[in-house]
Amino acid sequence: MRIAVIGAGIIGVTSAYELAAAGHDVIVFEQGSSIAAEASFAHAGLDGAGCATVWSPLAVAGGLAGLTVRGRLPAALPLGSPGSAGWTLKWLRENRGAAQSEIHERQHRLATYSSACTTELTQSLHLDYERSSGVTVVARRAGESQRLLAAVAVLGQLGVRHRQLTADECRLLEPGLNPRAALYAAVHLPDEGAGNSREFAHLIKQQAQRQGARFAFNAQVLAIQPGARPELTVARGPQRQQESFDVVVVCAGLNSTRLLAPRGLKLPLIGVAGVSVTAPLRLDEVQTHLGPTSVLLDPRRGVSIVRAGNRLRASGGARVGAMSRTHEAAAFKLLYRSLDEWFPGAARTGQAQQWQGNTPALPDGLPVIGRSGLDGVWLNLGHGSAGWTMSCGSARVLSALIAGVAAEIDTAGLTIDRFR
Ligand SMILES: Cc1cc2nc3c(=O)[nH]c(=O)nc-3n(C[C@H](O)[C@H](O)[C@H](O)COP(=O)(O)OP(=O)(O)OC[C@H]3O[C@@H](n4cnc5c(N)ncnc54)[C@H](O)[C@@H]3O)c2cc1C
Repeated sequence: MRIAVIGAGIIGVTSAYELAAAGHDVIVFEQGSSIAAEASFAHAGLDGAGCATVWSPLAVAGGLAGLTVRGRLPAALPLGSPGSAGWTLKWLRENRGAAQSEIHERQHRLATYSSACTTELTQSLHLDYERSSGVTVVARRAGESQRLLAAVAVLGQLGVRHRQLTADECRLLEPGLNPRAALYAAVHLPDEGAGNSREFAHLIKQQAQRQGARFAFNAQVLAIQPGARPELTVARGPQRQQESFDVVVVCAGLNSTRLLAPRGLKLPLIGVAGVSVTAPLRLDEVQTHLGPTSVLLDPRRGVSIVRAGNRLRASGGARVGAMSRTHEAAAFKLLYRSLDEWFPGAARTGQAQQWQGNTPALPDGLPVIGRSGLDGVWLNLGHGSAGWTMSCGSARVLSALIAGVAAEIDTAGLTIDRFR
C-alpha cells in the first residue's frame, strides 16, 4: 500500500520503520526540518514498564503518584494554563480505584511489549544509543518510603522485577550519591533503564530509509480528506499539493487535533509540559564515581537524573497545559537544585542545555492506535509521558492492524473505541 505518515517524532519514525519493513511504500511528511525535534527532542529517556506506569513524570509531579496508592487527593495539582483544569479532572477520575488498576494493566501490557520490541530492534539492527540499565527510586524520609512501599505493591501485582534497598545498599549501588544527601530507602528496578531517544530515532530513521521509506521535510500537512483514497493537502514552502494514498497515519503529536477536529474527530488531547537540563559530566581522575551509574528517580520532586554517555540529564517539572514563564523558571531551578543535592559537582552546569517540551497526552495516559473511524485515516498518537517507551510496540501494533492481522498483544483499551 502507499502510506503517508504525518509527523516525524519518535512515534512517526518508528511507525514508518514498521510499515516500510512490512513492505509498504511509505512517505513521512514533517513540517520541521529534522526528525524528533518537538516532544521527542530532549526528554528524560526512561524506558521501562514500571516507569511508564507507577512513576510516569506526570504521576509523580505534585506528589500525584501518592494518589495512585493512597486513594486521596494530592496536595497540589500540576496545573499549567487555567484551561487545563477540565482535562486534569478527567485524568484524576481515570487514576482512582478500579479504573486505575485497569489503566495500569493496559499501560503495562503495551509498555512491556514495546520494551521487548525495542530490545529486539536494538539487538538485530546493532543500534547504539547510550543505553544504561537499572533505575533507582529514592525516598528521603520515612513518609516517602511508605509511598514507595505502596508503589512496590503495584509493581508486584504487575510483575515488574524490583528490589527494596536500605540507604546503605543504595549508596553501594550508586557510589556517586552525595554522602550528605538525606536518604531513607530506595527501590531498584533492574529491567528498566534509559537511553538517548533522539539518537535512537535517527538510527531507526536510517533503517526505515533502508527499507525504502522516504522523509519529506518542511512539508506541512494542512488538511486530510478521508475516503477510499484519502487525500492530503501539503504545503511545501509557497506551494500547495494534493496527494492521495491508500492509508494515512496521523502521528502529528499535539497538532493532531488540528488535523482531525475539522473532520469531526475530537480527542481530549492536551500538552503536558516538562523541562530538562543536559550537561557534560565532569571528568575527575581522583573521584571516579561521578553522577549516577544509570538512572536516579526522585518521585517526591518529580525529577529524574539520567546518565547518557558522558553527559547527565535531569528532567521533570511536569505541568498540564501550557507552562508559564514562572513555572518554567521554577522547574529549571528545581532541576539544578536536584543535581546539586544528589550529585554535587558532577555536571558542568555552566555548559548545560535547557529544553522545554510538551508531550501529547490523553487523560488515561494511553495512546490511540488503529482506525480513526474516518475512511482511510489511522492513528498512532497521545502517548503521554511514556512515548518513547511505548513507540516500538505501538508502531508494530499499528502495522499489524493495517495489514488486517491480529496484533501480538490484546489491543483492548488502546483504540479509539474508548472515546466513542
Ligand atoms: C520533560 C519530559 C520528559 C519525558 N520523559 C519521557 C521518558 O522518560 N520516557 C518516555 O518514553 N517518554 C518521555 N516523555 C514523553 C515523550 O517525549 C513523548 O511521548 C514523545 O516524544 C511523543 O512523540 P510524538 O512523536 O507523538 O510527538 P512529537 O515528538 O511532538 O512529534 C510530532 C511531530 O509531528 C510534526 N507535525 C505536527 N503537525 C504536523 C503537520 N501538520 N504536518 C507535518 N508534520 C507535523 C511535528 O513537527 C513533530 O515533529 C517525556 C516528555 C517530556 C516533555
